[in-house]
Amino acid sequence: MSPSPTQRFHLDPAPDGLYRVQDLLNTRSIEVKGFSDLLSDGAVASATFGLDLSDADAAALRELRTALEALVDGEAPTISPVAVSLSVDDSGTVQLHPSGTGSAHIASYVWSEVLLAQRADTWRRLKRCRNEVCGSAFYDRSRNNSGVWHDVKTCGNIANLRASRARRKSE
Ligand SMILES: [Zn+2]
Repeated sequence: MSPSPTQRFHLDPAPDGLYRVQDLLNTRSIEVKGFSDLLSDGAVASATFGLDLSDADAAALRELRTALEALVDGEAPTISPVAVSLSVDDSGTVQLHPSGTGSAHIASYVWSEVLLAQRADTWRRLKRCRNEVCGSAFYDRSRNNSGVWHDVKTCGNIANLRASRARRKSE
């Protein structure tokens, strides 16, 4: 199997099902790294998710990704209603099941995971790297949730280098 979108960045997956949201965010193309868009069309998206997806599904998933990026950035995107189904298992625990097919199925489980993460208060730890040309989605495991770079050694250093260059120029 090809590496997951998140593995392209050598990042650890977010806990529980939140990694599925992280994976969707990390499908974006990142030119500086030579990463192509893993939702560019139906064939590419099918390979990424191991599902049979059409070009229309891929387009819907790109919209979903944009909405999730807005949400991670602290905005409240407008989305169409998403269907899920609920059941109760033998132990009396309510179970949430994604419904639909194709991109609707992915939207169903992705928003379910966002819901669960918001309830578990892990959602605020899913972030996008502050390096504009990167923007990869990472799970901040720092104690005080203060991380801003997906990797301090690479993206953090580039930013520091730029800042010091800018400082030197203005001197
Ligand atoms: Zn980065």
